Amino acid sequence: DKGLEKSRGSIFDKITKAVAGKSKVDDDVLDNLEEILVTSDVGVETTLKIIDRIEARVEKDKYVDAQELNQILHEEIASLLDENKSEDVDGFSIPEGIEGPYVMLVVGVNGVGKTTTIGKLSAKFKAKGYKVVLGAADTFRAAAVDQLKLWGERTGVEVVAKGMNVDPSSVAFEAVKKGVDSNADIIIVDTAGRLHNKVNLMNELSKIKRSMQKVAPGVPHDVILVLDGSTGQNAQNQAREFMKATEVSGLAITKLDGTAKGGVVIGISDEFKIPVKYIGVGEGVDHLQAFRKMEFVESLFG
Ligand code: GDP
Repeated sequence: DKGLEKSRGSIFDKITKAVAGKSKVDDDVLDNLEEILVTSDVGVETTLKIIDRIEARVEKDKYVDAQELNQILHEEIASLLDENKSEDVDGFSIPEGIEGPYVMLVVGVNGVGKTTTIGKLSAKFKAKGYKVVLGAADTFRAAAVDQLKLWGERTGVEVVAKGMNVDPSSVAFEAVKKGVDSNADIIIVDTAGRLHNKVNLMNELSKIKRSMQKVAPGVPHDVILVLDGSTGQNAQNQAREFMKATEVSGLAITKLDGTAKGGVVIGISDEFKIPVKYIGVGEGVDHLQAFRKMEFVESLFG
């Protein structure tokens, strides 16, 4: 199983080194720990928060060895994720109480894995017996529409597309209409994420939402922001920009198979208080996982 194992062990190995030959957790150890977390892309503010908590805990215990320090770090990270509601969700079921199709809008900068994530999502939903309709509203990037169509063929899911350079909001409208008319369970709409013009991005996303709401008031139910986990702090910066442009209800963090820096998930979850819902761990259709807090924390430490 291709998974998160690339990051496995790295933090624990470093902690072991940091406490080697030490008889207690002193400032030196804490400084080292701080560096370990920052270089694991946890982010400075979140790292300082974690270090404060660890300092308070070892204050009482005085001596802790690598194993204990590892355990404490484990617990603090898990509790941080809890506070930010990144707890286990069944990301592949429709929440209860939804009238009509469940509508997801997927946003994110080009190249982060948006289309791939939508493809993987449709396969998961389809496997659960849901009827899925995809909307190819990323009409800006040359290959995006074709790529989504390909995923649709591969997963046996209908794709509503009108080609390139068409107004994305008209595609989003058609996709929701198609989904409602054909009694679909889930509609997933892809979008273009051109961050270089924030006002445009905001306007475009609002327009897309408004056009979807003309068909089904109250949609989208979910706005998923896709971030490339291998880009570390850059992903965190992108998240910051997108939050200004639109409301985001959940995160999908991709490419965690190729990085030892899964720490970015902790920093992002802590800064934005938005649950991490999905994790991408490869290019294949099966390489999408619903976020599992403890599994994730384990994978960071080994
Ligand atoms: P988009 O521009 O955001 O729609 O990005 P794409 O879906 O086209 O993905 C960009 C590249 O990232 C493609 O080569 C994907 O196969 C790859 N990719 C997407 N998700 C993952 C992942 O979780 N792990 C890895 N290793 N590659 C991924």
